[in-house]
Amino acid sequence: MSVVPHPAGLPARTDPASTTSGPISAVKTRVVSAPYRRPFQISSGISTELVSLLVEVHTADGAIGIGETSPMTAYTGETLAGVTAAIEEHLAPALIGHDPLDRAGAHLVMDSVLRGQHVAKSGLDIALYDLAGRVSGWPVHVLLGGSIRDRVQTTWVVGLGTLDEMAAEAAEYADKGFRHLKVKGGHEPAKDLELVRAVRAVIPADAELCLDANEGYDAATALPYLAKMADAGLSLLEQPLPRWDLAGLVRLRERLDVRLMVDESMHSLHDALEIARRGAADVLNIKILKVGGLHRALQIANVAEAAGLAVKVGSMPELGVATLAAVHLAAAVPGATVAADLVGPLMVHEDPLAPTVFADCDGWIDVPTSPGLGHDV
Ligand SMILES: [Mg+2]
Repeated sequence: MSVVPHPAGLPARTDPASTTSGPISAVKTRVVSAPYRRPFQISSGISTELVSLLVEVHTADGAIGIGETSPMTAYTGETLAGVTAAIEEHLAPALIGHDPLDRAGAHLVMDSVLRGQHVAKSGLDIALYDLAGRVSGWPVHVLLGGSIRDRVQTTWVVGLGTLDEMAAEAAEYADKGFRHLKVKGGHEPAKDLELVRAVRAVIPADAELCLDANEGYDAATALPYLAKMADAGLSLLEQPLPRWDLAGLVRLRERLDVRLMVDESMHSLHDALEIARRGAADVLNIKILKVGGLHRALQIANVAEAAGLAVKVGSMPELGVATLAAVHLAAAVPGATVAADLVGPLMVHEDPLAPTVFADCDGWIDVPTSPGLGHDV
C-alpha cells in the first residue's frame, strides 16, 4: 500500500482503491445486540440489552460504507421496526442511484420523502461518511473539517440505582481515570441533591460532575435544590425541565451558578438556533442519532459556535460504529470542550462491532486515523 504525502498534523492518506464509487446500488440492514453489563436505567425506563441496527450502503462498483443507528424509543419516539421500515421502504429506494459522496444532497432527498425520523436517517448518513472515507482514503474527521484533537475525553455515565450503588460506580470509574462523571437523576430533586453530595465525596476534586435529570423536574420545585447542588460541587446540569419548557430553562439559568445543558430540547438546527436566541442553555448536547446524522450535527455545532455555546458530543446507548462516528465528530468540532458521552461500547460485555477501540478505556479514546470510521465490521 502506498502512502500519499500529507501536511504535518494530518494522518497519512492511504492510497484509495478507487477515487470514484459509482451510484448507490443497495442498502442492507441487520440487527445487532449486546447485553448490558448491568441493566441501564434512566427516568423513562430500564433495559437489559443494547439493540442497534447496522446499515450498509453499497455502490455499483463495489464500494461499501457501514453505519449504525439505535432507537432509544422512550427518548426518540422511533422504534426498531419503524426505523427499519423507514430505511427499507422509504429512504433507501429514494437514495438508489444517488452519488454517495453527495451527503448534503442525500439529506435533501431523505427529507423530501420522509419527515423527521432522525434515527433512521442517521444510520444512512453515518454509512455515507464511512463510505466517503474509505473511497478517499481519509478518516471521517478529515471529512468533517479536520482533527483538532488526537484523543477525545469521555464521560462515564452512571444509570439510576440506589445512592450507594451509584456512588460506588462513580468512584470505580474515577479510579480508572475518568475525570468527567455523569449521574442520572430526575425523579426527586431532594434525592438528587443527596446523590450529588454522595458522589462528590468519593470522586477526586478535579473530576467534573454532571447530573442529567432527563426532563424530570419542574422549575418551581427544583430551584431551591438546584442552587444547593451547585454549592455541593455540581459542574453541569443536563435537561432539568421538560423539552418544551425553554422559558423555564431561561429562568433557571438566570438564577443558577452552574452550567446548563440542553439535550431533549434540541433535536434540530432550528431548535439550536431558538435555544441560542433565548439564552436557554450554556451547552448543547449534540447526539448524532438524535439530530439526523453527522451532516446535521456539524451544522448544529456551527450554530453553537456562532452563539458562543459549548458542545457536548452525546450519544444514545449505541455500539461501536455509531460511537466511532461520535469520536470523529468530537475530534473535529473546536467547541466540543465538554467531555463526550462515548460509553455505549463500555456498557456492554463485549462490543461486537468495535471490540478493540474502546477496550480498557481510561476516560480517553484515541481518534482513529484509518480510512472511514476506522472499524473492522
Ligand atoms: Mg441526556
